[in-house]
Amino acid sequence: MTLQQLLRSADTSLDETVALLSDLVRIASVNGGPEGPGNESEVARLLAAKLAADGVASQLLEARPNRGNLVARLDGGSAPSLLYMGHTDVVPAEDAELWRYPPFAGTVAEGYVHGRGAADCKALVACETMALLILARQHVPLAGSLILAAGADEETGGQHGFAWLARHHPEAIRADCAINEGGGSPFFVGGRKGYLINTGEKGRLEASLRLDGKGGHAATPWAADNPIERLPELLMGLRRHQIVPDLSHPIFEVTSEVFQSSLTRLLQVDFGDLSRSERGLVSALRGASRMTITPTMLLGGVKSNSIPASCSVVCDVRTLPGQTAADVMAEIRAALGKVESVQIELQETAEPSESPYPTPFSQAIERATAAAVEQPDLLWIPGLTSGFSDSRLVRPLGTTVYGFAPQSADPDALTPEGIHGRDECMPIESLRVTLRMLVALAWDMLVAH
Ligand SMILES: [Zn+2]
Repeated sequence: MTLQQLLRSADTSLDETVALLSDLVRIASVNGGPEGPGNESEVARLLAAKLAADGVASQLLEARPNRGNLVARLDGGSAPSLLYMGHTDVVPAEDAELWRYPPFAGTVAEGYVHGRGAADCKALVACETMALLILARQHVPLAGSLILAAGADEETGGQHGFAWLARHHPEAIRADCAINEGGGSPFFVGGRKGYLINTGEKGRLEASLRLDGKGGHAATPWAADNPIERLPELLMGLRRHQIVPDLSHPIFEVTSEVFQSSLTRLLQVDFGDLSRSERGLVSALRGASRMTITPTMLLGGVKSNSIPASCSVVCDVRTLPGQTAADVMAEIRAALGKVESVQIELQETAEPSESPYPTPFSQAIERATAAAVEQPDLLWIPGLTSGFSDSRLVRPLGTTVYGFAPQSADPDALTPEGIHGRDECMPIESLRVTLRMLVALAWDMLVAH
């Protein structure tokens, strides 16, 4: 069996992939908070039935009733194994009446599959399921195993999904290499087309900065020490503090060649002055170059006629791989300078996580993508995402995980903007590219030996 035959099978399976994605969107697996409800088991059962129709067995692994994870595998030899991973829960649709198409109808129109989850992350799950089926239908022996894991509960941190799988069923999902969501955005630089591949994720902490004073009656402010009046100093300290960019991430090795002298400008220029096409890449560069400390909440006071004894600024902090809570503390102290009576408390919600790059796996992805989009000289930029995904939960098992679901660079197949917002949709042309890449990757790693 040749790569070209497999890619043709991918193309003839595109309608089936679109139908599968539409069916997946129709299951409202909404995960709005710690109580879900998620109901991801219904999604898992649909996938299991789809696989079973071609004789592929799968396992439904439930952390709790209805919070199911689906795992299926095609066993192979001792060559490096490949895990296709994705998540089956979605965020709430909020105002369903305001959507162009109903969020849980799975409407296929104008070259897109519409609805909540169509892009994040059911498109990848549909493509991965179909890629595994395309391989299974060929009945070729595989040099290494191919595993599919569709996890629950990503949108609220993965406790019932990949965190639980990694703790309770590590053997079911353990692989040498894995593909997950994130990455895959196309870009153009100097007439060349490229792709962003996510190699890691920043860490996240919450920093609570409490200003202490002396409470009292609002009618006699001279008898109190009002901490609210000292908030501006604290906020201006954070605003003025310049965090020195750290250009050690591999993204800068690639981009300093590509952008030459303009790299410094891109890191410093006012974001609003950039063109729309520059913004995605510049955002990735900035994110990978620094810790961010962003005030997001103000807490203080309980009554309009009482001076509170304290008030707080809560900040969202995103750290680079290698940065610790001590580094965060040092930056915050430097930002606050002489502001007095501030108690700083840090709470870590996710550690930074990263896979090495480049690797034989990233090179296989590059070959597979070149075959999928029929373009040999693509540029590659390894990105560090500012958000986080399930990848961080799988890396500790020894797996090299990259976020890479390549989208079409066709200007008529616009990148969806509705992820987590209204009118989420997925261009069918991007489904075609992702499906072809996944099939070509499996061929490269598991068949072409
Ligand atoms: Zn997602």
